[in-house]
Amino acid sequence: MRMPGLVKGLAVTLGTMGRRSVTQQYPDVKPELPPRSRGVIALLEENCTVCMLCARECPDWCIYIDSHKETIPATTEGGRDRQRNVLDRFAIDFSLCMYCGICIEACPFDALHWSPQFEYAEVDLLDLLHEKDRLGGWMASVPPPPALDEKSAEPAEIAASNKPTRGTGLVGAGGAAAGGPGARMPRTVRPRPAAARPEPEPPEPESPEPESPEPEPPDAT
Ligand code: SF4
Ligand code: SF4
Repeated sequence: MRMPGLVKGLAVTLGTMGRRSVTQQYPDVKPELPPRSRGVIALLEENCTVCMLCARECPDWCIYIDSHKETIPATTEGGRDRQRNVLDRFAIDFSLCMYCGICIEACPFDALHWSPQFEYAEVDLLDLLHEKDRLGGWMASVPPPPALDEKSAEPAEIAASNKPTRGTGLVGAGGAAAGGPGARMPRTVRPRPAAARPEPEPPEPESPEPESPEPEPPDAT
């Protein structure tokens, strides 16, 4: 009864014996990872405005940000001084991070990026807390964004910038000549037919002045 199973197992062994080995030869040979691999999070410090969105959205609370405000003097006479946030500390604790990518999705200024780099294991768990200098260093391994699909729709930002501005007549916002691409046609106001016009309401008759009551005669007593 057991022979068929044994024969079947031997057949599988014999079949796989002749196949080429697919064992990854890491670390002698680096694996070819897909460009969207989630290895480590890189920080582009120049883009960070300290809006704190990433820290607030992180489900693990493993992003630590410190900042202070800096006053920028007015550039024109009579102008107002401006204030901006200066990043003092940006750190991610990769011993807590679960690589969900929410912080990268939430960042409105493209300051966080995935790097496929994964060789940052540490002996001490505390060393997995990457400060901003180390996070910035990972930017070198961030792959460039993939090329846009030629047949894809025009990005909303470019479409908005090409849109003609209101009130510029036949010339488009991008300097499009009259009749050229982006030019606006003049708006025609057609008079409505008489039947479609609403009848003017007849004037209301003037109401008569209310009669003043007769003055009562003075009391004789
Ligand atoms: S990948 Fe997820 S868990 Fe890790 S820092 Fe970003 S939001 Fe937090
Ligand atoms: S969401 Fe982006 S810009 Fe805002 S604090 Fe985080 S990294 Fe900086």
